[in-house]
Amino acid sequence: MPDINLHNVVKNYGGETNAVESLDLQIDDGDFMCLLGPSGCGKTTTVRMIAGLETVTEGRLSIGDRVVDEPRGSRFISPEKRNIGLVFQSYALWPHMSVADNIGYGLKIQKMSSAERVKRVDELTATMGIAKYRDRFPSQLSGGQQQRVALARMLAVNPDLMLLDEPLSNLDSRLRLEMRAELKRIHAEYGATVVFVTHDQWEAMTLATRVAVMNEGVLQQVGSPMDIYDRPVNRFVANFLGVPPMNFIDMTEQTPQAAVVRDFLGRRIEDPAQLGSVGIRPESFTVGLRDLQQPTDCLRLTGRIESVMPTGGSWTVEASIGSQRIYATALQRGPLRAGDDIDLLLGSEQIHAFDLHEHRVEV
Ligand code: ATP
Repeated sequence: MPDINLHNVVKNYGGETNAVESLDLQIDDGDFMCLLGPSGCGKTTTVRMIAGLETVTEGRLSIGDRVVDEPRGSRFISPEKRNIGLVFQSYALWPHMSVADNIGYGLKIQKMSSAERVKRVDELTATMGIAKYRDRFPSQLSGGQQQRVALARMLAVNPDLMLLDEPLSNLDSRLRLEMRAELKRIHAEYGATVVFVTHDQWEAMTLATRVAVMNEGVLQQVGSPMDIYDRPVNRFVANFLGVPPMNFIDMTEQTPQAAVVRDFLGRRIEDPAQLGSVGIRPESFTVGLRDLQQPTDCLRLTGRIESVMPTGGSWTVEASIGSQRIYATALQRGPLRAGDDIDLLLGSEQIHAFDLHEHRVEV
């Protein structure tokens, strides 16, 4: 299986700012790497450069032991010579071919016998839930059906390297879940190297072996999904992952909530004056009515319940703590009611601290 290496890669489309900025990223063989970030952060550009559909402006890009794009060395290997399976948001199915012919095309090129081809196409159309459309043409399919045909067409040839740009974006939530499970299964079975672009953090967390979070063309953090979730390197990454999102308490202001946190962290942080903010995930709190018995050595935020919202299996409690709203997740509603006093408790290991430049500080 090939690995992919981006060394100091820059992409500029001609404007003042670079779409991708000095990107160093190693994608190991067998990785399921999700590129994650908000719209416009450079995910598609990155994956298109790997595919060879965009050129690199500066830097070097290698796949396996081949340098495939290095402008300074005047090297560029065309997309078709990179041996990559591609599925992009715009599916680019062959319009004049039926679904079955689209899926079987790569196998025909590989000179697979017609009987084997039919069998493989049958398997894939069944897996993707598109068997009944096998004789239709792409123009007769919905967007979601076309996406599944595009996936099946790519999977048919068992590529060693797959590049997928939002390949599930047009599917409803149930199908999306099923297709994710299928992709995960296929990856585990065949061990291909996968680069998967998504802006959906849930998708990235469930699929990836490693996640690369990008913002405004700049790589923020690379790590396993739990690494990124539990130890975000900066406030952007912390804020981007998690639903409901992380609560932030501004430590540069003289608010009652900041005072409680400062008092608690004072002993644990070398230079509390450097603290810009602290972040707390809603599910990190132990939620209880006032005077919840307090384990030793934990932070207690006291306030009032504003609302209790069901989120299916758990409850999101909105509380006013000092001068701000804090969201906490409770697994049971219990006696929690709007207007009641509330205690939110947590241990120091659940506090994410950030300095004045929004970088992580160890607590
Ligand atoms: P999305 O999730 O919305 O698809 P993305 O993270 O994939 O976004 P890119 O499509 O890579 O982001 O775009 C990165 C930046 O490059 C954006 O500011 C975009 O406007 C710009 N850009 C992308 N393609 C081109 C192009 N062909 N010409 C000029 N600018 C471009």
